[in-house]
Amino acid sequence: MPDAQVIIVGGGPAGASTAFFLAKAGHDVRVLDRARFPRDKTCSEYMSPQASRILAAMGALDEVEASGAAQLAGMRVHAPNGRIIHGEFSATHGFKGYRDRGLAVRRTVLDRILLDRARAAGARVEEGRRVTDVVRDSRGRVTGVMVARGSGAAHALPAAVVVGADGLRSVVGRRLGLIRTSAWPRRIALVTHYSGVGGLRDFGEMHVDREGYCGLANVGGGLTNVAVVVPVSRAADVAIDRTEFLESWIAERPRIAAMFAEATRVDAVRATGPFASSARRAWAPGAALAGDAADFFDPFTGEGIYAALRGGELLAPFIGEALADPRNADTAFHAYEKTRRAEFSGKWKVERLVGAAVAFPALINRAATVLSRRRDMADLLVGVVGDFVPAGEVLKPGYLLKLLFSLPARA
Ligand SMILES: Cc1cc2nc3c(=O)[nH]c(=O)nc-3n(C[C@H](O)[C@H](O)[C@H](O)COP(=O)(O)OP(=O)(O)OC[C@H]3O[C@@H](n4cnc5c(N)ncnc54)[C@H](O)[C@@H]3O)c2cc1C
Repeated sequence: MPDAQVIIVGGGPAGASTAFFLAKAGHDVRVLDRARFPRDKTCSEYMSPQASRILAAMGALDEVEASGAAQLAGMRVHAPNGRIIHGEFSATHGFKGYRDRGLAVRRTVLDRILLDRARAAGARVEEGRRVTDVVRDSRGRVTGVMVARGSGAAHALPAAVVVGADGLRSVVGRRLGLIRTSAWPRRIALVTHYSGVGGLRDFGEMHVDREGYCGLANVGGGLTNVAVVVPVSRAADVAIDRTEFLESWIAERPRIAAMFAEATRVDAVRATGPFASSARRAWAPGAALAGDAADFFDPFTGEGIYAALRGGELLAPFIGEALADPRNADTAFHAYEKTRRAEFSGKWKVERLVGAAVAFPALINRAATVLSRRRDMADLLVGVVGDFVPAGEVLKPGYLLKLLFSLPARA
C-alpha cells in the first residue's frame, strides 16, 4: 500500500510547484527535502517576468512582492570590448510578458514561500529527510524511495509515482541512469551578497570578461547578489580560497571594481559547479524528473527558476493521468517528455548559442557591437530570456544573419 500517491524528492521551485499543482488537483502528495527551510541555494536570484504568472497561479506573487523583492526592467550585458547590450522587458516588439518586470529575491525567502504554498494546497512537506535511492520492483518500475534514518539503515517509503525534483545532482535521476553530464561548458560559480554596490540601476547586469563573467542584481533589502562564473580550469585556485578568488577577480577589473568601492560583503562565498547536465529522458517507469534534475545548462541566461516552476506545472497533469490509469502510466510520462521538449527546446538552443558567445570573446564582442546599436534586436533577445518572446524569434535566419554579418546601423 503506497505511503503517498506521489513522493516528490526536493522542495525547491520544481518540487514546490509540482506538489502545489498536484495537491490542488486533489492528489495525495508528500515532499521530502534533506534541508530545513529557509535554506540558501547558490543562485543569482532573479526571475523572468513570466515566472510571475506561475507565482500568481500558486498564490505566491503578492507575498514575494511584499517581501521586498527588487523589480528588474531588463538586462544589461557588458562585453569585453566595452559595448553594452541593453534590453528591456517592456518594448515595442509586440510581445508582452505577464509583468513588465522581473523579480529578484533571496532564495531563502522565495523557496520558503513556495513550499508554504504547496503545504497550503494540501501537500505534506517533510524537511530534514534525505533520500538515498529509489526502490524498484522486479520489472524495474519505481515503487518508492529509500530515506536515510539518522546514522541507522535507510528505510523504504512506497509511492505510486516518484518525482525527482532534487536539483543538479539528482539522486533520483542518477540512480535511474537518466542523467548525462555535458562535456561543455565546464564552469564553476562563486556567489555571495554585498551591500553598498554602486551604479546598479533596476537591471540585471552581466559583465563578460575573457575569463568568465560576473552577474550583479539587486535582490531587495539593499543587497546585491554577486556571482562570478569562471572556467573549471580555475578550480584549483578557487579551492585554495574562494573568497580571496572572488574578491581578486573583481578587484582586477577596474570597471567592476569601481562599483565595489563602498561595498561590504555580507555573506560567505558559496561555490558550485560544474553544472551542465541534462536527462536523456525525464522519466522512467514509475518516476519523472523536473527542474534542474531534468536539465540545467549555464546560469548566464538566468531562467532556471522559471523552468523549474513551469516544469512542475507541466508535469502535474501527466502524473494525474498516470494515477488515474496506472496501466497506461508510461504513455502519460512519454507524453510529458514530448510536451517538455516542445516547451523548452527552442530555449535550450538559445541558451547554447548564448553560452558559446560567452565562451568566445570574438563572438560576444561581435554580438554586442550589433546589439548595442539595435535596441529592437536586444529587446527581442531579452524578451526570449524573459520567457515571453518565443525562442524562434531570435533563431530565425534573418535575426542570426543580422547578428553575425550586418554592418550595424547607428541607433
Ligand atoms: C550560479 C548560479 C546562478 C543561477 N542564477 C539563476 C538566476 O538568476 N535565475 C534563475 O532563474 N535561475 C538561476 N540559476 C538556476 C536555479 O538556481 C535553478 O535552476 C533552480 O534552483 C532549480 O530549481 P529546482 O527546484 O530544480 O532545484 P533546487 O532549487 O536545487 O532544489 C532542489 C532541492 O532538492 C533537495 N535535495 C537534493 N537532494 C536531495 C536528496 N537526496 N534528498 C532530499 N532532498 C534533496 C535540496 O535540498 C533542494 O532543496 C542559477 C544557478 C546557478 C548555479
